[in-house]
Amino acid sequence: MRNGVVLVNPPPSTDTSFFPLGFVFLASSLEAAGIPYRILNYSPQRYASDALVEIGLRAMMLDEPIEKRLAVASDLTSGQGNIVSEIADEILSGDEALVGFSVFRTNVDVACLVAREISRRDPGRIVVLGGPETFMQASVYGRLEGVGAVVQGEGELSLVELCKGVAKHNKLLGLDADIAGVYISGSERAPSMPIATTGFIPLNYGILLPFIREAANKQIPLLFSKGCIFNCRFCHNSDWPGGFRTADVAMFTDQLEKLLLHIEADGNPKVEELTFALRDCSFNGSWKDCERLCMALKKMERQIRLEAQLVAGAQLDRDKIQILTEAGLRAASLGLESGSDRVRKAMNKPSSVSEFLACLERLVEAGLNDIEISVIVGWPDETESEYLETANFLAQLSEMPVHVTLNLLTFFRPPSPVGAGIRKLVKTKGGSGARWIADG
Ligand code: SF4
Repeated sequence: MRNGVVLVNPPPSTDTSFFPLGFVFLASSLEAAGIPYRILNYSPQRYASDALVEIGLRAMMLDEPIEKRLAVASDLTSGQGNIVSEIADEILSGDEALVGFSVFRTNVDVACLVAREISRRDPGRIVVLGGPETFMQASVYGRLEGVGAVVQGEGELSLVELCKGVAKHNKLLGLDADIAGVYISGSERAPSMPIATTGFIPLNYGILLPFIREAANKQIPLLFSKGCIFNCRFCHNSDWPGGFRTADVAMFTDQLEKLLLHIEADGNPKVEELTFALRDCSFNGSWKDCERLCMALKKMERQIRLEAQLVAGAQLDRDKIQILTEAGLRAASLGLESGSDRVRKAMNKPSSVSEFLACLERLVEAGLNDIEISVIVGWPDETESEYLETANFLAQLSEMPVHVTLNLLTFFRPPSPVGAGIRKLVKTKGGSGARWIADG
């Protein structure tokens, strides 16, 4: 009988490498349960194309029904050396019972096309969708041809239970009553709570090794906490039921030390060429936990380059920044989202624009040399003059080691004037419309 699972990261719609950190959690928990697994990571280098950019942008910005999205995605991919059947070939070359896709909004459409292809070629395989996109969308994806089940929430326990159930009964229906956070397609039970959440299991970051060599940006993702103590209105964390949880500090540093030893033994790339990116939602959100980890990292005396997502504001003073830099922090990602105090307040962002700027200056002064600033354009009632406030704020940062990530929001109904303009451009010009806004 078939056994185990193949974990698939579908090709991204951008040219940025993004290895799903969730695979470390899933694979570690499968290993602990003795369940065999294989990982297929589709890097952007392999399939980068305008078609994938367009599919991702349409899914993000037009908010069309899934059936229409899949029809367009099917047309766009059929002229691309048949991405869908190539990925299906690679999945079907193994003999696993389950196929697990980790999906974001920008790559879920291609994953659904592959699921359909697999079910037509080998109906015995069970395709499971999980990841950020499925959290609130189980009923949308669970009804599609080829999708057997949808995991809502953290999959460490759910996936293991699914694998065990399928290995025992060789079917899906009938298992759902017992598995929290899993919606089985065609089941009587509506997709809903309970969403599965867990604490931190012992992780094997060594799983990342084969992908570290491939990653063009040489970033190693790590996670010290789950959830966030803030409640920004646009963020799915405000709906997340698990709350804020941290890993045990000793367990975390022990896992990191093991990963460093693996990398040193491998020698390609060298540790000093890498950035260890703490993907915590807000690394300094709970300062006492953040400080405990910084002290432990400093004690390791490893001199690794760290990056973290920080909440910038008056609370992040020079003393705290010194603790972060002594732990190895050299790069950061900050959520400005808007240069307008009114819009930031509506978003429920902590701190004012001037406090954000003062904090940014302190970080640069302390030696951070790579700072990403995230901006949201198209907030529901954002006016054009507020959009210009953001543009002017960013313009004054031109001498700083800063780069900007632009998030274009168009799905609000009714959209803001800015959001409506973006949607119109994407509709009329396809992916190049949104690219034009991002470049402009
Ligand atoms: S600080 Fe970041 S992760 Fe936390 S709620 Fe706000 S946007 Fe979400």
